[in-house]
Amino acid sequence: MANPYEEVKRLFDLAKKNPNNTKYIETAREIMKKQRKALPKELSDKFCKKCNIYFIPGKNCKVRISNKSVFIHCEKCNTLKRIKA
Ligand SMILES: [Zn+2]
Repeated sequence: MANPYEEVKRLFDLAKKNPNNTKYIETAREIMKKQRKALPKELSDKFCKKCNIYFIPGKNCKVRISNKSVFIHCEKCNTLKRIKA
């Protein structure tokens, strides 16, 4: 694979269009794991690490902003994810 980041970005684009299909995020995470690299932050904030859905606010998650943090509540698996603003 020439550039794993390009492939991962492509998978995230597909995940965005199919937010309830977890296989795109699963595959993207698998690629990064094989490369022993971390996902770029702009991508790692966009999905639920527990159930691998792509977050679409108002559709499958709720976003709450308090002080210096952003909380994303996954409505599929009930996980609360905290993102530093
Ligand atoms: Zn989840």
